[in-house]
Amino acid sequence: MFRSRRYRVDNEQLVLVLTVLLVLAVIVLSSAVTFCASGIFIILMFALSAWTTRAHHQSLLRNAHALNPVQMPKLAAEVEECSLKLQPGPVELFIAREKQLNAYTFGISDPKVLVLYSPMLQVMTSDELRFIIGHEMGHVALGHTWLNTILGGMAGIPAPFGAAVLLYAAFRWWNRMCEFSSDRAGLLACGDLNTAISAMVKLVAPEVRNQVEFDKAFAMIDAQDDTMSNRVAEIFQTHPMLIRRINKLREYVRTQEYQYMQAGVNRNVGQPKPVKVIHDPAAIAPEKQDDKPEKPQKPPEERWPWLKPKE
Ligand SMILES: [Zn+2]
Repeated sequence: MFRSRRYRVDNEQLVLVLTVLLVLAVIVLSSAVTFCASGIFIILMFALSAWTTRAHHQSLLRNAHALNPVQMPKLAAEVEECSLKLQPGPVELFIAREKQLNAYTFGISDPKVLVLYSPMLQVMTSDELRFIIGHEMGHVALGHTWLNTILGGMAGIPAPFGAAVLLYAAFRWWNRMCEFSSDRAGLLACGDLNTAISAMVKLVAPEVRNQVEFDKAFAMIDAQDDTMSNRVAEIFQTHPMLIRRINKLREYVRTQEYQYMQAGVNRNVGQPKPVKVIHDPAAIAPEKQDDKPEKPQKPPEERWPWLKPKE
């Protein structure tokens, strides 16, 4: 049988090799360009974020007021205690006149800024405020404020739709881990699990007035992770479901590690060792205040509709 392949033209194989080399070169070059462009993008995002942070700081200086120890000695003492316990580094506290119940922190350079919305001061007891302030100081101490800026820039890199969704979800996942860490800082600052839980419940259900209302709000929070839609929605949220945050703290207080940490931060303010804290819902609900006449209000499920589990 005659099977010669000598009809192949001279340059066919040479061109094949050159083509493959060219494809490889393009792959290497384009990934290098993407890599550099990503680097430039991250730097640009960081610069943009630094600029918006400055602008935010300046608007705060106009619209919020810095904590004045003479006018608010009690709050200043709470902040001082949290700061001594957690050692977050230089932090400036501002009180913003807003309607919502919120607190947050930001800043790339020192001092980091901690903002408390004014209703916090009415709704939270001073122990609960220590949890809130400690939580925010935890974000500062663990570097979340500036990491958020860098990682947020990275997650925002222009990418094909699927990859962009994946990057965004990964960034949110990290955000939620940061919340768990900062909750621990809040717990260490207030030193009491029940206080931490009542502060968290009040964040979503302010004005709980008695045990019955507290139990009702807690049951609604407890049901949040029962639905598939809530679990899916959580993937793209910065904060974990409240019941998960509460459960994480309940697990944490049972560990040796917590005892060690609590004893350590307490030493910073000359407090005795902590006693073992067991979650006790009955110890959380606020005392009924007899001096204020209770005005009739809607039932809890109508006052906090966002706590209702979604179908
Ligand atoms: Zn937080």
